[in-house]
Amino acid sequence: MTTQHRRTAAEVQAAVRAARRDRRPVLVRSGGWHLGLGPLRDEPVSIDLRELRDVTREGATAWVGPGLSSAAAASLLGDSGFPLGHAPEVGVGGYLLSGGNGWNGGAWGAAGDRVVAVEVVTPDGELRVVDDGSDPGLMTLVRGAGPLFPGVVTRFRLALADPVRIARQGITFPADAAAALGEELDQLAPACPPGLELTVFLRPGEADGPRVTLAATAFDATDAEEQLSLLGTLTTPGEPTAVSSFSSLGALLATLSSGPVPPAAFHQTWTHAPYATTLPLLVDALRAPPSAVTSVLVARAPVRTGDLDSVYTVPAPVSVAAYAHTPHPTGRTWCRATIRALPTAGHFIGEADLGLVSPLDCFGTVDRARLPGMLAAVDPDGWFRPMEPGGHRA
Ligand SMILES: Cc1cc2nc3c(=O)[nH]c(=O)nc-3n(C[C@H](O)[C@H](O)[C@H](O)COP(=O)(O)OP(=O)(O)OC[C@H]3O[C@@H](n4cnc5c(N)ncnc54)[C@H](O)[C@@H]3O)c2cc1C
Repeated sequence: MTTQHRRTAAEVQAAVRAARRDRRPVLVRSGGWHLGLGPLRDEPVSIDLRELRDVTREGATAWVGPGLSSAAAASLLGDSGFPLGHAPEVGVGGYLLSGGNGWNGGAWGAAGDRVVAVEVVTPDGELRVVDDGSDPGLMTLVRGAGPLFPGVVTRFRLALADPVRIARQGITFPADAAAALGEELDQLAPACPPGLELTVFLRPGEADGPRVTLAATAFDATDAEEQLSLLGTLTTPGEPTAVSSFSSLGALLATLSSGPVPPAAFHQTWTHAPYATTLPLLVDALRAPPSAVTSVLVARAPVRTGDLDSVYTVPAPVSVAAYAHTPHPTGRTWCRATIRALPTAGHFIGEADLGLVSPLDCFGTVDRARLPGMLAAVDPDGWFRPMEPGGHRA
């Protein structure tokens, strides 16, 4: 494989044209954090966009480079709101193209729904600026096609949200509290105001078994701390942290990390199952983790805002993602087994193990039927088909 680091849109365009001339398939990398793609074959040209890292403000929007991480993008966006990915290191490029289940999704919605234009090198080697007026079909693919996207996006234009203050508090519970906590969350979560995000992290813990941490993050223009008072209604005993306050998402992300060892494999499912079912199953899985820093994230799905067409599918209210922080094959096996144990409503193209789940199975019935035709319309010669034989494969 030839990896080509590109600094400008013109360089990306030249790389795509050269790949076409040499009849070699093209693969694209922004942050490199999609852990479910598998190894490659067939001598593709890999275009690395990590150096496309500019942010340019335009009124209530910003043009953002795909090579930024969540944390770097949040920092450059200042106090403007945008639902960037939860993990600070995740690349903006792959995240936005996958649809984007990010911070404050209850109020800010899915990230992909806020992509209003892109600068893109299309498979014919042209560099275009595209929006819903000029090319609605391509924009529909920008919003959710993920690794299937046929082209290289060199800049995304994002609709920003108003500034908010952020307050965050965690409560950690022992493994044997998982069922009781789950029952309470089944009542609490649907009743939460849109700006109060509840996530549950599970980790192996020490001798006394896995730990379950409920993290509540409140986003509010004036009084984020007040929204956290809802946690006071929980009766399951746990250990709360102090409340932390932040002036922007960038300030919050600067305090987070995906752990001392980065994850090397993941798998995800959307589920309708109640927390009371899900949390005890996950605790059981974490009694035999592949490494001490294994983690599971249970998050609420974003609300869908706007009426722009997209292929991003949210089939259930809860996302469960298992992350193995070891490159050993047992990590991937564990993620697969953990997710398979849960009732599934489908998978998210951004976090599914695509060696196990077919990429098309990450979409709803309507999108599954129309996607092949939409992809072929943009890329009739198949230069950007990394999920088919010849591209990424497990
Ligand atoms: C620890 C962790 C936490 C995560 N948390 C979240 C989360 O909170 N919410 C969420 O929605 N997702 C989350 N994800 C999933 C993540 O958003 C996706 O895996 C996403 O694809 C990663 O983007 P990337 O740019 O880093 O990946 P890459 O591996 O660089 O890209 C993945 C694929 O997307 C395509 N692609 C990427 N950039 C471009 C581009 N500019 N133009 C054309 N095609 C491109 C390519 O096909 C590429 O192979 C998480 C992943 C991890 C590992």
